[in-house]
Amino acid sequence: NAPVFTRALAYGDKIALVDHGGQYTYKDLYYSSVRLSQEICKIHNCLSGDIKGERISFICSNDVSYVIAQWASWMSGGIAVPLYKKHPASELEYVIRDSQSSLVIAGNEYVDLITPIVTKIGVPFLPLPPTVCGREADEPTIEHTPQLEWRDRGAMIIYTSGTTGRPKGVLSTHQNLKAVITGLVDKWAWTKNDVILHVLPLHHVHGVVNKLLCPLWVGATCVMLPEFNAKVVWEKFLSSEKPRINVFMAVPTIYSKLMDYYDKHFTQPHVQDFIRAVCGEKIRLMVSGSAALPVPVLERWKKLTGHTLLERYGMTEIGMALSNPLMGTRVPGAVGTPLPGVEVCIVSESSRKENHSYSIHAQGDQNGTKVTPGSEGKEGELLVRGPTVFQEYWNKPEETKNAFTPDGWFKTGDTAVFKDNRYWIMGRTSVDIIKSGGYKISALEVERHLLSHPSIMDVAVIGVPDMTWGQRIAAVVKLREGQSLSYKDLKEWARGCMAAYTIPSELLLVEEIPRNQMGKINKKDLLKQFYPA
Ligand code: ATP
Ligand code: MG
Repeated sequence: NAPVFTRALAYGDKIALVDHGGQYTYKDLYYSSVRLSQEICKIHNCLSGDIKGERISFICSNDVSYVIAQWASWMSGGIAVPLYKKHPASELEYVIRDSQSSLVIAGNEYVDLITPIVTKIGVPFLPLPPTVCGREADEPTIEHTPQLEWRDRGAMIIYTSGTTGRPKGVLSTHQNLKAVITGLVDKWAWTKNDVILHVLPLHHVHGVVNKLLCPLWVGATCVMLPEFNAKVVWEKFLSSEKPRINVFMAVPTIYSKLMDYYDKHFTQPHVQDFIRAVCGEKIRLMVSGSAALPVPVLERWKKLTGHTLLERYGMTEIGMALSNPLMGTRVPGAVGTPLPGVEVCIVSESSRKENHSYSIHAQGDQNGTKVTPGSEGKEGELLVRGPTVFQEYWNKPEETKNAFTPDGWFKTGDTAVFKDNRYWIMGRTSVDIIKSGGYKISALEVERHLLSHPSIMDVAVIGVPDMTWGQRIAAVVKLREGQSLSYKDLKEWARGCMAAYTIPSELLLVEEIPRNQMGKINKKDLLKQFYPA
């Protein structure tokens, strides 16, 4: 269960990371991290070389400094708490305080931002030198081979996105991380020859584990952009420069933005042919996750690049749980089957009250799914168990307890259904499952339909409290440029393709759907915006 860095020396001179400043070998990363870990121990007056789970918050650009801060936290025996550089000061303060960090590390560019915050809190502060990573790094002068016991040791506190409430600190152990990483490495066939293009924030599982720790685990190369930029991403896809990108992962909104860019800039047929040819030949895997992938996005992406996006489902608390196959059919709208080591089940509300009789039950590394007769195609809460499931919500014993069933299943809060031999996510039980006139409607399914309307650019479907129906369906819509849409027109169009009880009874037009950096919508806030309580 040793962390990623313990494998680094074996990969030696192989290129681990490429960023705006250059490229770095595994050895560079390792030795630079050892040096920083020695600083960390010094600040903690720790002679043993093990700060025993003290939390180290760090704020870094998306570059080599991030990896070194993370590895150094682990090498010194600490728990890594990645901060998000775009969070307002109040949020940064919340995370540093909530995690009870004993040290804050800041990359060169963030010293001004973080200084007043650490001064206010009174927590030790370590600014990184601009060249934290020595190229061609020599072995550090002081002998330092971290020989810690990794099992059950806390590795990282990642804060949830805050889509349904205040972000919670999710503590994962090294064992948890290893389980997620090895599951993905196996299922998506990562090798040391892979080169991934990294464009996501580094304070979420998607950016931290799937896109960074997986490649570093296998000795692959991670090409990291400072942030997402559609023009640069297309250039990287199409460039023949080495190392050549062959893996990409993103949230659905990023794929939409890439297609907007395509529409504006790649209008000539020969350019379009070139794109399809290069993407098809050179890129082996393109993944989508963190939010539901709208089917129209999947279909159009396939048309433009030849790639059927591989959709998977995960959560801060459970890492990755369900995935479409690398080989075999990826069904649009479905999230596939459990990853190796992951056990999932779906329970109906009624069966949960009566002693957790499962309706559906499957385990990633075993063939087959147990289906209680009559339960296929029925919705229920998705529960997850296994080595990927987190340890606890930091300092929140009550929340931790409530998040599990008495027999140890983690309650995801998402509604799912099993049909056609795979799992489908219907949305968050609290906001996406709309109960209207005796029907249960999945907001995600309504969104999928509405997105196929030619004038609709983006949409969020919400349940509005209703005297007669309990809830009624409202569609918050962003139109495509130059388009108009009346409710009457929408209704007429919807009659042709949607079940009557799923057609929204309200159309709310907006300039922009408020999504966070991971493409997620806070639907409770959205509802409040239109219907202040
Ligand atoms: P908070 O828990 O603070 O409200 P959050 O749940 O958005 O925030 P994350 O852990 O980042 O924070 O997100 C996990 C959630 O993302 C899942 O519970 C699920 O609702 C959603 N999700 C992830 N992947 C998919 C997917 N492929 N399809 C649908 N939903 C997905
Ligand atoms: Mg959540």
